[in-house]
Amino acid sequence: MSAHHQIVIIGAGTAGITVAAQLMLKEKSLDVVIIDPAAKHYYQPAWTLVGAGTYNYKETERDMAPLIPKGVKWIQNAVKEVQPDDNKLVLNGGEEISYDYLVVCPGLVYDFTLVEGLEATINKNGVCSNYTDPLYTWQLLQEFKGGTAVFTLPATPIKCGGAPQKIMYLADEYFRKTKVRDKTNIVFITPGAVIFGVDPFKDALMEVVDRKNINLRFFHKLMKIDPVNKVATYAITANQNAPDRLHHNKIVIEGEQYFPEVAVGETPCVTETLAEVMVPFDLLHLAPPQVAPDFVRHSKLSYRDGPDKGWMAVDINSLQNKTYANVFGLGDVAALPTAKTGAAVRKQSPVVVENLLHMIHNEGVLSKDYTGYSSCPLVTGYGKMILAEFGYENKRMSDPLLSKFFDTSKELYSMWVLKKFGLPYMYWNLMLKGKA
Ligand SMILES: Cc1cc2nc3c(=O)[nH]c(=O)nc-3n(C[C@H](O)[C@H](O)[C@H](O)COP(=O)(O)OP(=O)(O)OC[C@H]3O[C@@H](n4cnc5c(N)ncnc54)[C@H](O)[C@@H]3O)c2cc1C
Repeated sequence: MSAHHQIVIIGAGTAGITVAAQLMLKEKSLDVVIIDPAAKHYYQPAWTLVGAGTYNYKETERDMAPLIPKGVKWIQNAVKEVQPDDNKLVLNGGEEISYDYLVVCPGLVYDFTLVEGLEATINKNGVCSNYTDPLYTWQLLQEFKGGTAVFTLPATPIKCGGAPQKIMYLADEYFRKTKVRDKTNIVFITPGAVIFGVDPFKDALMEVVDRKNINLRFFHKLMKIDPVNKVATYAITANQNAPDRLHHNKIVIEGEQYFPEVAVGETPCVTETLAEVMVPFDLLHLAPPQVAPDFVRHSKLSYRDGPDKGWMAVDINSLQNKTYANVFGLGDVAALPTAKTGAAVRKQSPVVVENLLHMIHNEGVLSKDYTGYSSCPLVTGYGKMILAEFGYENKRMSDPLLSKFFDTSKELYSMWVLKKFGLPYMYWNLMLKGKA
């Protein structure tokens, strides 16, 4: 079986629905098809709050069917292969669809195999993730009786880079409420060099870290999880000869072991080259390693080499594929030097829509208006939030209306209200309808 459509959109997530809805608002007569096997659509940003017991998981889930914009055809199947030289794709089961224009936005997938032992233990044995099962995170927070709580992230790009630390700040506050914080070490272990890459948010977050007495560990790459002995093993990727640069608010966790063995107490042995550390934990929250879906990774649409290998290759301002002019990519799958968020999708979608219409109507040059906007609502406690907004090169970019009334680099109750009530409302009622 085969069919042809003017515009084919792969993925009916945040990006796919938003682009489809905006296209329909601009031009009802377009022939648009959206392909996605999922029966449900999720508002993922609220999973941070679900993991901390302050949002109902059921409210993050909606049936897909009513979200598909009127006039758009939904094919409930998965794309198996893209053949951009022939303007064609193949679905699971072998059906072929050809297109004039293609929009690729299937998000990303979790690759648990990139951390030894993770596949067998995710969502059990004290190893949780708001990315995969926020209700299990909440269960663990409630059951926690003290010990070491590790919050960590992988060395791959991840969606919403702030999510692994937001749940940590909420956990800290929750542990104070349940009176276990004084017998708990909270440790944030990252492959990066900083807690957050954009000023002034970084400084604001370091104040939160100090106030909450959190131990930060930098340049640590998660290699292995041993769920039986509850130990996470990290490779140390920089500053191997300067252990003090690996820590902020340094603590020594009982039973932790460095390789080769060194004294990591008061006077660390700076002549040794640290290679690995084994960190015992009682609770481990992590973002799983994340990669582009197979059909993108193995297609001609993605980078073959380099740091963006496997992610979809697009012009970072027009979002047009680097090789095929009639193909656009946006959302988590796109190789863009900014954070992968729904907020970024909101600014990317109108650029893709404008460019598709330009091409369909032969209307001159493409828009290059996407300048990397992304934002991260950094929840720092129940009722507190910093809203980090930024663009390419980690430059701060503030919403003109919000910044008129609020300094969003401060912890504000108003931003928490925005996160918990305002943004979900805007998502379901405006963004997915093509109106925001
Ligand atoms: C815990 C967590 C917290 C987050 N917090 C925030 C936040 O506070 N703010 C924020 O802005 N963003 C946040 N995000 C990120 C945000 O949810 C994503 O960046 C956004 O959803 C990306 O949109 P997308 O359309 O690219 O991918 P998605 O919304 O994930 O959609 C991808 C769609 O593609 C479909 N698909 C996959 N493979 C195929 C295939 N082969 N064929 C057809 N369809 C396919 C999937 O079924 C899915 O429906 C968070 C995410 C998580 C997990």
